[in-house]
Amino acid sequence: MAFDSNIEDFDALGNDHIGTSENTPMRSDAFKLNNEEKIDIIKDDVRHIMETLGLDLTDDSLKGTPNRVAKMFVNEIFGGLNPGKKPSASTFDNKYKYGEMLVEKNITVYSTCEHHLLPIVGRAHIAYISNGTVVGLSKMNRIVDYFAKRPQVQERLTIQVVRELQEVLGTKDVACVIDAKHLCVNSRGIRDIESSTVTSEFGGKFQDMETRREFLDYIKLDTKF
Ligand SMILES: [Zn+2]
Repeated sequence: MAFDSNIEDFDALGNDHIGTSENTPMRSDAFKLNNEEKIDIIKDDVRHIMETLGLDLTDDSLKGTPNRVAKMFVNEIFGGLNPGKKPSASTFDNKYKYGEMLVEKNITVYSTCEHHLLPIVGRAHIAYISNGTVVGLSKMNRIVDYFAKRPQVQERLTIQVVRELQEVLGTKDVACVIDAKHLCVNSRGIRDIESSTVTSEFGGKFQDMETRREFLDYIKLDTKF
């Protein structure tokens, strides 16, 4: 997709929540600064935003906010930008020769919309068919959490989770469905409180309609937020 370098076009793109790439767009110098240096710079940036909005940062309640937000950005909600935080790829041999579908459902998703920097809250459901290798169940939660802790587009998050598990498990037979609310849609803009967004990625055998149906029957989407 090509866009004119017109700020209004990019504004519309973000409001429609259209992502442009499967990989998180990163700068080549993304890790030149260490976390402490990043926190130091972001702290000043947050203070600048707050002061520009007219807030009095000498007030005791606001004084600590720039530092708190900077630490939260770097260490927590955007901590998954750092490849060093990627969960280790420990797998096990499938001793029981369990060749059926394994489904891990209702994995909590806390992410951040990269167009508005507001929360995305939802559930991920993952399935795979082992070709001899299995992962611990908590590994799937950790993979979701790692990719969720970035500025995200829900479609990209869904694809990144599937690609990572395909690599770890050595099989294409992996699927993921995410059902999530975007606070930028629910609390501002169109202010649609009820709506949620469902995205899916079906790899390998999950492109077969019967296998896909089996997975979707297991999860019977009825997400409680
Ligand atoms: Zn948004």
